Amino acid sequence: MGAFLKWSDICYTKKNVNKLISNTMFTLNELPFSLTDLEPHISAKTLEFHHGKHHQAYIDNLNKLVAGTPWEKDSLVGLLLKSYAREGKEGIFNNAAQVYNHDFFWNCLRPARHEAVIPVELKNAVIHSFGSWEKMIEELKGAALSQFGSGWAWLVKEDDQVRVIKTSNADTPLAHGQTPLFTIDIWEHAYYLDYQNKRAAYVDAVIDNLANWSFALENLKD
Ligand code: MN
Repeated sequence: MGAFLKWSDICYTKKNVNKLISNTMFTLNELPFSLTDLEPHISAKTLEFHHGKHHQAYIDNLNKLVAGTPWEKDSLVGLLLKSYAREGKEGIFNNAAQVYNHDFFWNCLRPARHEAVIPVELKNAVIHSFGSWEKMIEELKGAALSQFGSGWAWLVKEDDQVRVIKTSNADTPLAHGQTPLFTIDIWEHAYYLDYQNKRAAYVDAVIDNLANWSFALENLKD
């Protein structure tokens, strides 16, 4: 959990400071790679819409929902945690969680030209919990494929074990006391332009060619 807040602090410190000084609202973080870096697995066109339109819309909605309320100076994670399962605050939770999940997801990806690196420490933790790296990958792909409708497949840390889980819609492990290590966005907007209905091909492409396991290790260590 600590790790998580730490990552989030890095991501949102500047804008929160801005918010305190000038009442500036949340703004869209830049992608940690260029629009063409994920090709041919995820096209620039998909990223343009996914980051520029969908992720941006969650930010705009969240800003609208908290503007002029006592919550307007809260941090992103603060908003997410206090709105979770709270009657009348579903819109704030959904948008805050989607902003968070997307920033987390972008960091889970690496440019396609970069070789896959599986850090030893991460691999050992996965083997300890799953028996083998391959078994974890199989479970992660299974979770991504079996999620009915929109959602996310995750690798999380809970009680010193590494686990695979899936969440529906905007739901996020952060709201359940789990530390996210890695995620795949399995909303149709993540893959429809490139893969249409072939979710399995998209999931394979992300896990086999774009996964940034070093980011997962950073989260595991915190
Ligand atoms: Mn998405």
